[in-house]
Amino acid sequence: MKRFILAGALAICGALSVVASPTDSSRIDPAFDYHSYANVDEFRTTHLDLDLRVDFKFKTIAGSVTLELKRLDPRSTQLVLDTKDIMILDVTQKSTDVLGATAKNQTIWVSRPFHLEKPDRILGSALVIDLPPSKKATESIKIDYETLETSSALQWLTEKQTSRHKPFLYTQSEPISARSWIPLQDTPQVRAPYKAKIRTDESLRAVMSAENDPKAKRNGEYHFVMPQAVPSYLIALAVGDLEFRETGPRTGVYAEKSVIKEAAKEFADTEPMIQANEKMFGPYRWTRYDILVMPPSFPEGGMENPRLSFITPTVIAGDKSLVSVIAHELAHSWAGNLVGNATWRDFWLNEGVTDYMESRIMTAVYGEQRSSMEAVLGVKSLRADLAKLKPADQVLAIDLRDRDPDDGFSYIPYEKGRLFLNYLDAKFGRERFDAFLRGYFDHFAFKSVNSEQFMAYLQENLLDRFPGIVSRAQVNTWVLGPGLPADAVLPVTNLFQPVDAARGAWLGGALAAKKVGPDWIAQQWLYFLDGMPPLGASQLAELDKAFALSKSPNAEIAHSWFKLVIANNYQPGYPRLEEYLMTIGRRKLIEPLYESLMKTPADTEVAKRVFAKARPGYHPETVKAIEAIVVPKEETSE
Ligand SMILES: [Zn+2]
Repeated sequence: MKRFILAGALAICGALSVVASPTDSSRIDPAFDYHSYANVDEFRTTHLDLDLRVDFKFKTIAGSVTLELKRLDPRSTQLVLDTKDIMILDVTQKSTDVLGATAKNQTIWVSRPFHLEKPDRILGSALVIDLPPSKKATESIKIDYETLETSSALQWLTEKQTSRHKPFLYTQSEPISARSWIPLQDTPQVRAPYKAKIRTDESLRAVMSAENDPKAKRNGEYHFVMPQAVPSYLIALAVGDLEFRETGPRTGVYAEKSVIKEAAKEFADTEPMIQANEKMFGPYRWTRYDILVMPPSFPEGGMENPRLSFITPTVIAGDKSLVSVIAHELAHSWAGNLVGNATWRDFWLNEGVTDYMESRIMTAVYGEQRSSMEAVLGVKSLRADLAKLKPADQVLAIDLRDRDPDDGFSYIPYEKGRLFLNYLDAKFGRERFDAFLRGYFDHFAFKSVNSEQFMAYLQENLLDRFPGIVSRAQVNTWVLGPGLPADAVLPVTNLFQPVDAARGAWLGGALAAKKVGPDWIAQQWLYFLDGMPPLGASQLAELDKAFALSKSPNAEIAHSWFKLVIANNYQPGYPRLEEYLMTIGRRKLIEPLYESLMKTPADTEVAKRVFAKARPGYHPETVKAIEAIVVPKEETSE
């Protein structure tokens, strides 16, 4: 109960904003998950069994979860689980101690008293279940429940919001939203296999982050097994009018019919990507790697749900120019899914290691030139974030106590994390560093690690084995310090020089727009547009006429174009900008656009008007993020 009391006290303090300063890192317990109420010292989940009905009419998921738990303390009389916006209907405990049950070899389910604690804005409500003390090694607890419309993990899309005139539901559990559709120990410290029975409309197909059978009959009842132990944030479900197309012996694409053909073409290199990564970092341990193409409202670029990455359709550009997202989600099959962060403070271990591996995959499959350009653009984004964030938020092992872990989602865990690994790679040499990473994945396979455990492993297996190259103090500067260490090894490319030259020549009137970049790839176009000074309307018109930027099938290039449209108040670009904000829900692409709209009073009105219209089509997390940008603080205060 110690953990529960601590977390509960923290939550209440959070509401009153009287916790110790978040910069007071000396008091952080790195082994403690500040974002879960679960009393994992007393009980640990070893298996989950979901039996759920997905009801589109009432927008609810209803049914039960049966948790198999290892009992770590025979005296424990309370099991504490995480929930958020869930209605708990009943809690029962499997018992063989009841009169005659053992003799008849029957399973008897006994009701147990339970209550929900007062909800915290970020963490939700602790579900406290009273249990008799027991010397048994395991417990089975079944919870009957129903989700509420406010569930932060679920997006229900109506027929009108999909391409097939059929509804769509998907979950996004990372970081702490699994508790809004399943009552469970919602902490990445706990990993468990699961199985599920999902019932839904007969015309729809359900898929999960588990073994999927593309040949399963479409009859409204689907069965899944996830044999490997995964953390709660990797439990995922999607239901829609989904087709399947194979792209390799162990790869394929699920999508609505209208995009399945282009998606399969765009993601045809998935198998070569897996092979490249296996060669460097050891076997792919999840049997299959499939991709689910999400509706455009999906808030992320991709979500690495094991065996089935959820991917935004905005990476389908027609020329594979944005498939680094696939390399990224695939790399998570090692960094994150195989060896994962123990708490959200350690999120950089998922994302930084993954970003590093993404670069290596991109180099192996598409060559050094392209991956170096992507890396340089990544550093540019990192620098922009470093300029904005306060020092405490520039730290890899970020202090997220009393905060929504979503607040940690900046370029820091990704790009600074990648640079830290680049640094180790450069210092120790490719061969030693690859062997180290491979060993790390083997050593911690299917376990979670925190930043301190990573540093200890690094010390033992790299720093101490090859002494005199990198000191522990240097590692501490990277992991625990703000900013970018002075001896960072930054990526370089010479492929942006011709872009700078062409931009200069065009701006100086020496080069016509239509003569610019005949052989450039997407990353060069992004660099070209992002480096523009203030422009006049005629210059923007010339660019748009030459390259049809406002109609670009490449969502990233369109994004860079719309940033110029807003920055220069180019009115002819606004109708397409509005359409873009109405159809896409990927946060990386739309949040910066809303942010720049908020810079002038006239555009503030545009932002508010478009958001009001677009809002019903956005995911709840996107709504929350855009609301924070568009609605002034005093209007949202509770
Ligand atoms: Zn990632």
